[in-house]
Amino acid sequence: MPYSLPIFEAKANATPIALEPVTGPIGELRDSHERVIRDLRISITDRCNFRCVYCMDPDVRFMRKVDLLTDSEIVRVARVAVSLGVRRLRLTGGEPTLHPTLRELIRDLWNIGIDDLSMTSNASLSSESELAAYRAAGLQRFTVSMDSLRPDRFTQLTRSSTTPERVVQTVRAAQRVGLDPVRINAVIVRGFNDDEIVDLARLARELGTDVRMIEYMPLDSGRQWDMKKVVTADEIIARIKESFPIEPLVRDHTSSPASVYRFADGSPGRIGVIASVTRPFCGACSRLRITADGKIMPCLFSTSEYDLRAVLRQPDCSDEDIAGFLAAATLRKQAGHTIHSEDYRQPDRGMFAIGG
Ligand code: SAM
Ligand code: SF4
Repeated sequence: MPYSLPIFEAKANATPIALEPVTGPIGELRDSHERVIRDLRISITDRCNFRCVYCMDPDVRFMRKVDLLTDSEIVRVARVAVSLGVRRLRLTGGEPTLHPTLRELIRDLWNIGIDDLSMTSNASLSSESELAAYRAAGLQRFTVSMDSLRPDRFTQLTRSSTTPERVVQTVRAAQRVGLDPVRINAVIVRGFNDDEIVDLARLARELGTDVRMIEYMPLDSGRQWDMKKVVTADEIIARIKESFPIEPLVRDHTSSPASVYRFADGSPGRIGVIASVTRPFCGACSRLRITADGKIMPCLFSTSEYDLRAVLRQPDCSDEDIAGFLAAATLRKQAGHTIHSEDYRQPDRGMFAIGG
């Protein structure tokens, strides 16, 4: 029997549209551009203790708790997705370490049987013992976001009271407890932190970790993005090369979509650049996203959302219903982003509500 596939085109109160479900054996989650989904990004909260300027407005309103997926709903969806070929899960948000039962959730997701479980965090809240507990529960990789090494600028950027020193301490603690690799993400915004590109590259050498510099994307809830503020991956690499000779490495799935470089002098640490704006990697995208309120966003830039929570909360929802819904939403995955087109429409959700 056909079920309705509620779609919210851009505005959350737009009229849902009923679609034909995908029925019969599904096998893998394959989109209409022949891409297969292997990675599921799960936003487990939209709440955050930071208000990063490129992500979240200071006067943001968070989702109601009742609208958030429960842990058992998250695990159920992940289990079905894994049965359809998903191999890697990433927890994100908002700030995932604010999730009250994070350790148990990590354990339950790892126990599904997957190749990789990772998390992206602002690294301001976790103690070493908490990191060790996450590691013991099954967390493999840890990505930390840090865009400035200067305390005053860090405060300005994150609109928080945390310091870069605290974040670096957390990176070291994560390395000690065996999270591997531990990476640092830095969004480079022209006129804001582009004068720290070389300092961030030096940090990669000092910590022996990957620092990945990300092009600023038009996903900020304050809608202040402007192409003029984007520091391109080419420019980032050129600036680093002025101080540290670096050489490109062959891509592997764990570093994708970053282009990764090593230091030519053999120093530990690596540099990654994520050229989402100037060199989109959409053709190789293997990701699907679930927001904290249970919407499927097949692309970071989707202006359509697919209401999986409505399906999940039907009293007789079966795993087949979830699978058919995931498959139908995957089929609607767009070929790529259209940032450079005149018709580009930013999703209503900021990055914190999508799950970066
Ligand atoms: N709170 C966690 C953190 O900051 O790591 C996880 C969620 S955050 C939304 C995930 C990633 O998205 C972070 O690395 C952040 O830097 C990145 N991000 C947020 N807004 C962005 C934007 N407009 N352009 C590029 N990256 C962005
Ligand atoms: Fe919070 Fe991460 Fe967004 Fe910063 S980037 S406001 S830490 S969700």
